[in-house]
Amino acid sequence: MYEFSLTDSVNNTIQDLCRQAGWTKVRRVMVKAGGLRKLNPELMAFIFAAIAQGTPAEGAVFSVMIMPVTLLCFSCGKVSSTDEPEKVCPLCGSSNVYVLSGNEFSIEALEVEINHD
Ligand SMILES: [Zn+2]
Repeated sequence: MYEFSLTDSVNNTIQDLCRQAGWTKVRRVMVKAGGLRKLNPELMAFIFAAIAQGTPAEGAVFSVMIMPVTLLCFSCGKVSSTDEPEKVCPLCGSSNVYVLSGNEFSIEALEVEINHD
């Protein structure tokens, strides 16, 4: 399952960060994903809730920001952005396009509890 491996790698990265920074509690996780990845945010949140059990991110709110797909069209010469997860120019319908963005995936934000003692 594609969502599982991506969510698993997010969870591993967060655990590494927590170890390095000494964070004991992660409250919120936001990831950013290009529309071409066709991810299911609800499924990812569900998987994350399961695999984060027993880690600092247990119970954290997990959200996925789906980013628009940006295409350069070789047929009409225009750059356009679309929420459709397809490599088709929304202006002229050509599939002769170059993908400028839409495949990205990254952790965008973390909200953690810092212990001041
Ligand atoms: Zn076009």
